[in-house]
Amino acid sequence: MTRALAIWAHNLKGIDWHQSFVPQGAPPTVNGIPAATLQAGEHWFDVYQAAARQGVLIVGGSARTVGAAGGYLLGGGHSPFAHYYGLAADNLLEMSIVSADGRHRVINAYSDPGTSGLFAAAVEVSGVYVVTSVTYKTHPVPQNLTIGFVQLNTTDNASSTRLISESLKLLPAVTDAGYTGYGLFTQGFQAVFLQPNGTIESFDQTFASFSNLTQLPGVKGAVGAYSSTWDGYLKTFLRDPNIGTNNQDTSRLLTADIIREKADDLADFIVDNGQAAGFNFIGKVDNKERDNTAVHEIWKHSHALMSISVDWLDNATACEKGEKRHKMVQFSKRFTEIVGPDGGTYVNEASP
Ligand SMILES: Cc1cc2nc3c(=O)[nH]c(=O)nc-3n(C[C@H](O)[C@H](O)[C@H](O)COP(=O)(O)OP(=O)(O)OC[C@H]3O[C@@H](n4cnc5c(N)ncnc54)[C@H](O)[C@@H]3O)c2cc1C
Repeated sequence: MTRALAIWAHNLKGIDWHQSFVPQGAPPTVNGIPAATLQAGEHWFDVYQAAARQGVLIVGGSARTVGAAGGYLLGGGHSPFAHYYGLAADNLLEMSIVSADGRHRVINAYSDPGTSGLFAAAVEVSGVYVVTSVTYKTHPVPQNLTIGFVQLNTTDNASSTRLISESLKLLPAVTDAGYTGYGLFTQGFQAVFLQPNGTIESFDQTFASFSNLTQLPGVKGAVGAYSSTWDGYLKTFLRDPNIGTNNQDTSRLLTADIIREKADDLADFIVDNGQAAGFNFIGKVDNKERDNTAVHEIWKHSHALMSISVDWLDNATACEKGEKRHKMVQFSKRFTEIVGPDGGTYVNEASP
């Protein structure tokens, strides 16, 4: 019989803001830096609002309800600000854990210097563990945020296939230029992009190649941007898609090589299946800390996480749900054929 223990971390609330945080056990020569310590039950929306009141930016996810100190961090943690500040794992200064033997430990670069990254340290010292709090670096709030949109609609499968392929090929250039986006291929390409401290002029220049796609046969649409703020981001940009819906994803990180060589195959795959494909994010993250973390190598080369999902109605029968899941496994296999075994994704995709 399989036994399991569930721990309800939801009520472990609390945020401490530090002007000058020095990890426990650091030598006296180490200078403090701005940081925030979050208890394990904190969620991103509450953390973001508190950060806005403090006048700092914290590298978190693009959804409001995801835990700020749990599975998000343990999966590496992608943020719309990751191009400039890296993944959540790169911003982690210290974590406090309780290991399966009941011991409480504080782990940081000084407690376990021989290990590659704090996750690796936590696993090495304790095997299984529960995070009770984490301390992340904080950053200055951007002066402004440029928020841009790409809305390109197609009328038939041939124009859709061409548009998807051409749009994919443009992603490495816009992500190298510092834009992070979220989007969907469904009868065209719809996406929003943002860049801290950018200008409308530089958006227009960088995205001129997307505007040019309206010249393709069967494609209509517009590309544009407006200037917003960190506050505007919190109020209008942050959303929680797919919460409480019957939905399962299969996804792959796409490298520049894959995009260049396999854009046509990916476009055929999406259109042939009559399925919408989405981007959990489009972006190139700052990887200068990558070799100091336990996060997978593929992040060094990735420009987007593309996913295809299946969903079903609340009253679907067990057989109907089984068929959907089977379909998703087939999608996952096809994804692997196109992207190759080294493609990688950012969450566990065990076969259902
Ligand atoms: C709408 C939506 C948007 C998302 N956006 C992003 C995004 O922008 N960037 C990104 O990187 N990810 C994003 N994700 C993915 C999200 O980071 C993962 O689903 C993550 O695993 C959620 O963690 P949780 O702690 O909230 O959830 P849970 O389901 O509670 O936990 C997920 C896993 O983490 C473990 N875990 C949770 N807390 C602890 C703890 N304290 N100690 C040890 N283990 C723990 C759990 O046991 C479980 O295995 C998004 C997910 C959704 C649903």
